[in-house]
Amino acid sequence: MRRANVVRVLSGKQQKQILEIIGDRCAALWNAVQYRCRQAFFEGESVPSYGRLCSEFKEHESYKALPAHIGQEVIKKARKAWDSFFALLRLYRKGELKKPPRIPRYWKDRRTGKRFFRIVPVKASTSYSLNTRYLSLTLPQDLRAKRGDRLVLPVRGILRFAGVPKTLELWYDPAKKRWYAHQVVKVPEPERKKKPEKQAALNLGARVLAALAVEGWHHQLLFSGREVWKDFVYWTKKIAAEQARLNKAGRKTSRRLKKLYQIRARRLKHAFVALAAELVRILKRHRVTVLFVEDLTGIRDDMDFGPKNILVHNFWAFGMLRRLVAAACARVGIGVVASAPRGTSSGCAVCGSSVLRPVRYKAVCETCGCVWHADANAALNILLQGSSKGHGVEVAPRKPLSLRWNYHRWESRFASAAGTPTGAASGVPKVA
Ligand SMILES: [Zn+2]
Repeated sequence: MRRANVVRVLSGKQQKQILEIIGDRCAALWNAVQYRCRQAFFEGESVPSYGRLCSEFKEHESYKALPAHIGQEVIKKARKAWDSFFALLRLYRKGELKKPPRIPRYWKDRRTGKRFFRIVPVKASTSYSLNTRYLSLTLPQDLRAKRGDRLVLPVRGILRFAGVPKTLELWYDPAKKRWYAHQVVKVPEPERKKKPEKQAALNLGARVLAALAVEGWHHQLLFSGREVWKDFVYWTKKIAAEQARLNKAGRKTSRRLKKLYQIRARRLKHAFVALAAELVRILKRHRVTVLFVEDLTGIRDDMDFGPKNILVHNFWAFGMLRRLVAAACARVGIGVVASAPRGTSSGCAVCGSSVLRPVRYKAVCETCGCVWHADANAALNILLQGSSKGHGVEVAPRKPLSLRWNYHRWESRFASAAGTPTGAASGVPKVA
């Protein structure tokens, strides 16, 4: 299993200049490789392979201006961009994508034509070293003051994952004007506890971000999306205001705009990461071994709300939530099984007959008289579909537990209404 450590790179004035020189050389090489590949593509020839590019660029000046393990990695990255382009193109031709993919681009500002730096990839762990305090890199030959000189940069952050170090990439964030180091480490797979098997199911949505049903647990748990989207809308409005301001000035983008986008995405991710963590805590408490998660296709039905239908344009968010949940489960060894949506919200979880939806969040079964929270019902249905042994929940549906985001952690509505100090653990009752 691969994980990434991310730390911020601090640099003095001189170190910063050196980083920028290296970054610019990477961009020069990237652009040269892209030029070669694009020409081949437009001429109808095959795009050269990584090995061929390496031998073609061996004597190239922008390749020779970099240490070999950086130069090779730039070429590899540039070639990989073509691999993903072709993969997307195949999907597009099969009709699985709406828009044709764009061919790999230059690292260059379109308006000014100026080259910009973005990433400095470093190939192997033998060519860099990273600890909690310093990152040290090989310098290009001409930038060394004396033999064996290295670029040593102080770093700030936590190395979350310990394991076998793999590649490292230095990323430049133009909005913050900062460098970050992303280190890939290989960590051993956590042992997956298989027996006794216990199952749970998660239904993802917009109003209720996630609804959880656990085998044999009489309550279902809902993560309310209300506060999360409220915050998202707040920042979206700020973005719109900034865009209006830029429009008036005849500009398209600004550092402030980039920062606002970043803030909005990060705040959303914060809520999602916390959701995944809380979810995993609950799953562990119930000793769940397998989690069924519905495919995202069902979400589209749930997306016609919010000011100006904001969610429709932010479908990516659900992909992110799903990935974060899967990653959090993988870390503790809970298996995640994707289940195809098969009318999970239209049938009653007790008797299977179709339900009425008088209001969006309610599902009423006329056959057995059950009144469900629609998402809790859907989660139970996913559990039923995935499992071979039923969901083990008695007939009468109970009011589901609901958690909401207080911009810091997921807490139960009850806890917040009663004014529980924030230091208390979340309001989910322990299993008896
Ligand atoms: Zn029923």
